[in-house]
Amino acid sequence: MAEAKKEFPKRHQWAPPNGVVRWTHCLVCGVIQRRDGHQSACKGPVKVALRDGQ
Ligand SMILES: [Zn+2]
Repeated sequence: MAEAKKEFPKRHQWAPPNGVVRWTHCLVCGVIQRRDGHQSACKGPVKVALRDGQ
């Protein structure tokens, strides 16, 4: 099977704990890795945008 869409990797890009985040976390979406492995696919970069009027 060939995947045509590859806007971002669906696998989390796990990063080790650091001074900011104490747990293994995804560099892309920022989710914390679960110990039980029941992790959903990576949803891609989280865009934090402020809207005017809020
Ligand atoms: Zn992720």
